[in-house]
Amino acid sequence: MINQEDFFKKIISHAKEYGFVFPSSEIYDGLSAVYDYGQNGVELKNNIRQYWWKSMVQYHENIVGIDAAIFMHPTTWKASGHVDAFNDPLIDNKDSKKRYRADVLVEDHMAKIEGKITKEVAKAQKRFGDAFDETQFKTTNQRVLDYQQQIDTISQRFYAALEKNDLQDVKQLIEDLGIVCPVSGSRNWTEVRQFNLMFSTKMGSTADGANEIFLRPETAQGIFVNYLNVQKTGRMKLPFGIAQTGKAFRNEIVARQFIFRMREFEQMEMQFFVRPGDEKMWYEYWKKERMNWHLSLGIPADKYRFHDHEKLAHYANAAADIEFEFPFGFKELEGVHSRTDFDLSAHQKHSAKKLQYFDPETNQSYVPYVVETSIGLDRMFLAILSNAFSEEKLEDGSERVVLKLPALLAPYKAAILPLMKKDGLPEKAREILAELQEDFMCHYEEKDAIGKRYRRHDAIGTPYCITIDHQSLEDNTVTIRERDSMAQDRIPVEELAAIIRKRIRPVKQA
Ligand code: ATP
Repeated sequence: MINQEDFFKKIISHAKEYGFVFPSSEIYDGLSAVYDYGQNGVELKNNIRQYWWKSMVQYHENIVGIDAAIFMHPTTWKASGHVDAFNDPLIDNKDSKKRYRADVLVEDHMAKIEGKITKEVAKAQKRFGDAFDETQFKTTNQRVLDYQQQIDTISQRFYAALEKNDLQDVKQLIEDLGIVCPVSGSRNWTEVRQFNLMFSTKMGSTADGANEIFLRPETAQGIFVNYLNVQKTGRMKLPFGIAQTGKAFRNEIVARQFIFRMREFEQMEMQFFVRPGDEKMWYEYWKKERMNWHLSLGIPADKYRFHDHEKLAHYANAAADIEFEFPFGFKELEGVHSRTDFDLSAHQKHSAKKLQYFDPETNQSYVPYVVETSIGLDRMFLAILSNAFSEEKLEDGSERVVLKLPALLAPYKAAILPLMKKDGLPEKAREILAELQEDFMCHYEEKDAIGKRYRRHDAIGTPYCITIDHQSLEDNTVTIRERDSMAQDRIPVEELAAIIRKRIRPVKQA
C-alpha cells in the first residue's frame, strides 16, 4: 500500500508525462499556482465543461448561458462586497518565513482531531465486527466524545473570532492550540492580518488618469450585472437560470495541492433566479440535481459527501459544499448557495438601476432571490483524474497504468491502430478513422508494437483501441479492445460507432 502523498505525487507526474497538465512557463521554472493544460488535458477539460454546459443549458429549457468579460466596472466589486470583505487571514512564521492562512492552520488542526475519531471508529469496528453500530459508538464512547468536544470548542471560538474580525484572538487560538509551523516546527508567529485576494491592474493610460480595475475573482457577478439584459431580451420567466463558464483569479496566500488551489482557474457557475420564498425548495432541488450530475459520471457515491455550512456568509440563508475525496482527503469541489437577493439588491443600490422582475401572476415587482451552483473546473479535473488513476498488476506479471476515465470525458474515444505499416492496413485504418472522427475524437497511431500502443492509450484513458489487420481487408472486421477489462472482440466495422456511442452515455440517476 502506498501512502496518499506518494499516490498524489504519482498523479501529478503522470499528468505531466502524458500531456495533461504542465507547470506554467516551465522553462523559466514555473509560476507558483499557475498551470497549463497540455494536449490531452485540454480535451479532458473541454469535455468536462461541455458536459456541464449540456446538463445545465441544453437539458434545462429555463436556463440560458452567457459569456461576460473578465474585466468589469470596478463598482461591481464594491457592490458585491469583494473590495471590503474578500479577505483571508494570513500569518507568517518568523523562522521559516513561510506564510499560511490562519483559518487553514486551525482547520487542519481540527482535521487531525477528526482523524483520531476516525481511528477510534476503525479500531472499534475491527473489534466488534458485524455487530458494530457506528452512530451508537460515536455518541457513547468517552474518548470520541472528548475529541468531538475539543473540535466543537475550537470551532466555536474560531468562527466567533472571524465573525468579529478579532484577529488577535485568532492568533491567540493558534498559540493556545500549540500549532507549529510544518516547516520550521516553531511557534514563532507574526500577528494575523487580512489580505485581499483580488488581483488588480490599471486600465487606460496614466496621463488620462488610469483606473484601478480587478481581474474577476468569480464569474457570478458577470451574471448578476446581466440579469436584466438576459431576462428582457430572452423574455425569461421566473424561475430561470443563467449559466457561465470562464476564468477567475484569486491571489491565494497558500497555493498548494497542484490544480486544487490555483491563482488563475476556471469556474462553471449557474445563478437560478426564483420568487422570494421559493428559494429553500430550489436550494434542495439544486443540491440533489448537482449531486446526480456527479454520480452520472459513474464515480462511486462514497467518494462524495455534502457538507452543510453552519456558519453562513452574510448574504446566504443556506449553503452546502459537495465534497470529493481527493488524495489529500475530503475537500470542497462545488458549492450550492442560497444567496437571497443580496447581489441584485446591492447592484441595484450601487447602479441606481432597477433590477427587478414583474411577476404577471402576482402583479408585483420584486428583486428575485438566487440559488447558485458553483464548481471549479480545474478541481473537477483533479477529481476525475485522481479517481481514474490506477496501477494494475497483470496476470503475466507485468504492470500497467490505466486512467479509468468516464468514457464520456476521455480525451480520445478510440485509437485507430493498423497492426502493421504496410499491405494497405494504414489506408484501411484511415478510412475507418475518417468515418469515426465525424462524431468522436479519435487518435491514429501506427508506430511501435501493438502492445506498446495499447499501454500508451491505457495511460491516457482511451476507452477503445481498434486494431486493423489483414483479415480486416477481407471481411471488414476489426479487433476492438476495451480499456478496463482489456477484453478483445472481433466485430464488423459498421458496429463501431454504436458501441462507442453507447459507452459515452452518462449513467441515469433517479
Ligand atoms: P475554498 O474554500 O477551497 O477556497 P471557496 O469556498 O472560496 O473555496 P467559492 O468561492 O465557493 O470557493 O468558489 C466556487 C468553486 O470554485 C469552489 O467550489 C472551487 O471548486 C472553485 N475554486 C475556488 N477557488 C479556487 C482556486 N483557487 N483554484 C481552483 N478552484 C477554485
